[in-house]
Amino acid sequence: MRTITIAKGDGIGPEIMDATLKILKAAGAQIETEEIQVGEKVYLSGNTSGISKESWDIIRKNKIFLKAPITTPQGGGYKSLNVTTRKFLGLYANIRPCMSLHPFVTTKHPVMDIVIIRENEEDLYGGIEHQQTDEVMQCLKLISRPGCEKIVRYTFEYAKQYGRKKVTCFTKDNIMKQTDGLFHKVFEEIAMEYPEIENEHWIVDIGAAKLADTPEIFDVIVMPNLYGDILSDVAAQIAGSVGIAGSSNIGEECAMFEAIHGSAPRMARDTANPSGLLGGAVMMLNHIGETEAAEKIQNAWLKTIESGIHTKDLYRAETSTKLVGTAEFADAVIANLGQLPTKLPPVKYDNTVVINLPKYKRATPKNKVLVGVDLFVDWKGLNADELAQMLQTIEVRDVKLTMITNRGIKVWPEGFQETFCTDHWRCRFKSSSAISFSYEDILALMHDALQSKIDVIKTENLYQFDGKDAYSLGQGQ
Ligand code: NAD
Repeated sequence: MRTITIAKGDGIGPEIMDATLKILKAAGAQIETEEIQVGEKVYLSGNTSGISKESWDIIRKNKIFLKAPITTPQGGGYKSLNVTTRKFLGLYANIRPCMSLHPFVTTKHPVMDIVIIRENEEDLYGGIEHQQTDEVMQCLKLISRPGCEKIVRYTFEYAKQYGRKKVTCFTKDNIMKQTDGLFHKVFEEIAMEYPEIENEHWIVDIGAAKLADTPEIFDVIVMPNLYGDILSDVAAQIAGSVGIAGSSNIGEECAMFEAIHGSAPRMARDTANPSGLLGGAVMMLNHIGETEAAEKIQNAWLKTIESGIHTKDLYRAETSTKLVGTAEFADAVIANLGQLPTKLPPVKYDNTVVINLPKYKRATPKNKVLVGVDLFVDWKGLNADELAQMLQTIEVRDVKLTMITNRGIKVWPEGFQETFCTDHWRCRFKSSSAISFSYEDILALMHDALQSKIDVIKTENLYQFDGKDAYSLGQGQ
């Protein structure tokens, strides 16, 4: 018997969890459950993380966590428990299969069988945000080489183990050349190790449009966190309903399984579709080696769907035979345990699938040389030439002001008077001679800026790695 942690969550959570556990038990899954409290009640009791230390201990002990959706209270101060759990437990891969069940579930895309693999720990989800001036907020986007290597390698291994033919990568590296650029680069590097799997890259905007229009051209898609978050909901919805998609969050030690949808607090009692959480539970059973139970449940579920027994989200007069509530749907699945679908293809799971990734090895550090600094300045003026004149008074040694940008666009030298400017200015200082730039130069600039009452709100060092500039130019530079 394997002990797993469960949390029943909020809104429709308890109903869909009860339905799911009833099916798991009836299918003979060899699991025991240990329940923890997370979510709204915990948040509103004054714990802004939504989970107690004792619950963390239980999750870490059992390593496998089946979680119903929770409600994050509106308003500041509450941290998303989902994001925290994924990051604390190092659950770097979020796997979301989206398959259409045509003609039994109404969809504009009858031929659709894709798996979205979303990077789960990095990107803008660090939640590192600051207000820097009256007018400007910042959210830090962090993308790391180990983060990219782990998710991309996981994706290719997944494709290999599950006999998938093609892996597509979505990024926006035409704009974010360093962060998304790294993701794309690592994708190209690792793809070379899997010549038997076709690979391709799309810029995320056109990729997303194609995904929504012709999902049948995709197989497995890997992408950074934010795009994956958005597009996996799109994919689930166009496959039929967000109510039927499950997902797994996989780490080196622990794993968490859930539905992709939220707690739908406004839904009437006993109307929610439990299939999303059930799908997550089937992925969990496969993960812990309970392949037989997983297969039995999935086939009984397919049989139930094809026989037209549908909850409200899927019910259509032309495709459905019976409208049922959450509990009745679970009973229908239980009644079908041991049967195979006859119209939809039955599943056959392979209990030899194990995805073991090599440990990340840090490469020899590159030669890192400081070549300049960007001083970010809060300044309420409008004319960049005026700001440049002020900044030129703090130039030290041969360190010169070379550029000013506002929200990324170059406004000095030779800016356009049409460019709209905020109170947030990036002012780039570099050495004009071969004498290399030093950290003391930054301190001297900061010191003189302070004396001149220039409000420096942050600095960003400019480096070369192995002789290559490793910072973005100003737009228009
Ligand atoms: P939601 O996914 O809860 O619901 C959106 C709509 O989708 C519902 O109104 C309903 O029409 C449909 N839907 C969702 N689940 C369904 C199901 N099982 N069966 C049938 N229809 C279903 O999104 P929301 O309303 O934006 O968020 C509600 C709360 O859930 C928020 O507090 C949010 O923070 C939280 N949330 C939690 C998770 C999670 O725990 N993993 C994920 C997303 C949102």
